Amino acid sequence: MNLSKLPRANLTNLPTPIEYLPRLSEHLCGPKIYVKRDDCTGLALGGNKVRKLEFLLGDALKKNADTIVTHGTSQSNHTRLVAAAASKLGLKCEMILEHRVDINDDAYLKSGNVFLNQFFDVDIRYLPPGNIIEHELEITAQAVTQRGGTPYVISRGGSTPVGTFGYVDAAHEIMQQFAEQNLKIDHIIHATASGGTQAGLIIGLAAAASKIKLLGICANLPKEAQEERVYNLALETMRLLDCNFNIAREDVVVNSDYVGEAYGLPTMKMNEALLLLARLEGLLFDPVYSGKALAGMIDLVEQGRFDKDAKILFIHTGGESGLFAYQNQLSVNSQK
Ligand SMILES: *Cc1c(COP(=O)(O)O)cnc(C)c1O
Repeated sequence: MNLSKLPRANLTNLPTPIEYLPRLSEHLCGPKIYVKRDDCTGLALGGNKVRKLEFLLGDALKKNADTIVTHGTSQSNHTRLVAAAASKLGLKCEMILEHRVDINDDAYLKSGNVFLNQFFDVDIRYLPPGNIIEHELEITAQAVTQRGGTPYVISRGGSTPVGTFGYVDAAHEIMQQFAEQNLKIDHIIHATASGGTQAGLIIGLAAAASKIKLLGICANLPKEAQEERVYNLALETMRLLDCNFNIAREDVVVNSDYVGEAYGLPTMKMNEALLLLARLEGLLFDPVYSGKALAGMIDLVEQGRFDKDAKILFIHTGGESGLFAYQNQLSVNSQK
């Protein structure tokens, strides 16, 4: 497994810092909690998708693509970052946005990532939910070819095997930081959805023969379905990387207890977690992914699921631009 030989576009400013959260740790009277600032990857407000895009767009450039075709929900962080990356590399971008979350106020429909997308050189097509997205991507790609362009399709939030390399590399970066900082972390926790972040981390940790326990807190699917998705993606990715080690199905651990009503719909616990982190640590998280994952981590700490002398690293996957879209759904007054 050698990532350095793979084509890679330079979009990030790595490594992202690891910071200790003293006031949160003290407040929860539990393990010491650290945060990996993958909200600070660089590029258009940053986030976990940028790591995937370095490898995906490296692949696109190698294949001489001139137009990136992608899709997401209307408030997708992924599409904002694809648009930014394409602009930075001088490529065209065509995106399909689906209105999949049942929030219909002006802020959700127009602010946040919907607003930011339009800053970049991008063609946007909106679709109601219920379309077969693979088919729509195909149609868009064909239209690019017919005009004489060369399309490169990025599906599944960048969680393809190539995109997943980004988090294999992130695991390597994290292990290096642990060594340099003499940090002994027992658990890594992060938000999971399309699965590339978790699949990449699992491979990277296995490559380092690490004993760290990885937990993905899910933003959409039930536990079993998400674990299967991540496991299969990890296996597919390992085949591409010619890995000489294995991962076990039990290495893939997902908790789906904090999704709430549905993907993208706020929960009280998420809202409380956003306020807690802002007021104790001056940090902003997002309402769809990292906020729900934080709510999960805080609840599990409060339930005493981790040893008091353990150390947890929470990966901040970005997405704060989503806060603007949710301004009518989020309360800024703590209920506690
Ligand atoms: C996409 C996203 C995630 C989930 O990462 P996956 O690799 O899709 O599982 C988490 N947090 C934020 C902010 C995201 O945009």
